[in-house]
Amino acid sequence: MVEIIKIKIRNLSFSYNGKAILENSSMDFLENRITAIIGPSGSGKSTFLKILNRLWENNPGCTMLGKVDIKFADGFQDIYRKQYPVTHLRRQVGIVFQAPNPLPMSIYKNVAFPLELAGKNDKIATRSMVEDSLKMVGLWKEVHDRLDTSALKLSGGQQQRLCIARAMVLRPEVLLLDEPTSSLDHKAAEAIEGLLLKLKEQCTILVVSHYLDQVQRIADAVVELRQGKFVTHELSQGS
Ligand code: ADP
Repeated sequence: MVEIIKIKIRNLSFSYNGKAILENSSMDFLENRITAIIGPSGSGKSTFLKILNRLWENNPGCTMLGKVDIKFADGFQDIYRKQYPVTHLRRQVGIVFQAPNPLPMSIYKNVAFPLELAGKNDKIATRSMVEDSLKMVGLWKEVHDRLDTSALKLSGGQQQRLCIARAMVLRPEVLLLDEPTSSLDHKAAEAIEGLLLKLKEQCTILVVSHYLDQVQRIADAVVELRQGKFVTHELSQGS
C-alpha cells in the first residue's frame, strides 16, 4: 500500500499555564489510515486533537511551539501560519467528541448546520448532501421518515452517528474522534467501529481510544503519548 503522509508534526511543544503536555516531539500520520492515539489519562490525547483543529486558542495560558502541516488539495499547509483562516481549517478537519453532542434541533438541521455556516444556501444541494451523509453513517434507513423530529430523541449510538454525519457533511480531509464510543453500549460501539473502517477510504482518521481491543480491531497505526512525546507502537500480529 502506498504510504502518503497527511499530517506532519515537527518539534511540537504545548503547555497549559507553564505545565508541559507535549515537549519538542515530532510524528507523521498517514493518509487514509486510522491512527489510534493512546496513553494514560492526562497524557495530552485530547489536547493533541485540539491542536490539530486549533480548538485551544481561546484558552488563556496556553503556549504552543513547533509546526503542524496538513496536506490538503492545495498541498501541505502550515495550519498555524499567520492569516491561515481557522474556518477553512475546521471545514477540512472535523472533530467528534466523547459524548454525542447533537444540537437541540431537528435531525435534518443538525447535519445541514455546517453547510449553512459555510454559506452554502442551495436547498436542493443541501438536501442531497444531508442524505448522503446520513447514508454514509448508516442512519438514513433509521431516520429518513422523521428528519424533522428532534435529534435529542435518538438513542446514544444514533446521536453519535449523527454527530459523525455532521462532521462528514463538509467532506473533511481529516476526521478526529475523541473516545467516540466510550459512552455507548457494545452494539452501538461496534456500529461506529464499522463506520470508521468505511470512512477511512475517504479521509484520514485519528481516534483517541483507551480500549485496546478496539485499537486492535480498527487501527492501522498506534501512537502513544508518553511523558510529552509521541511514541510509535507496533500492532500485534493478526490485528
Ligand atoms: P488526555 O486526553 O490524555 O486525558 P488531556 O489532553 O485532556 O489528556 O489533558 C492533559 C493535561 O492537561 C491534564 O493534566 C489536564 O488536566 C490538563 N488540561 C487539559 N485541559 C486544560 C485546560 N484547558 N487548562 C489547563 N489544563 C488543562
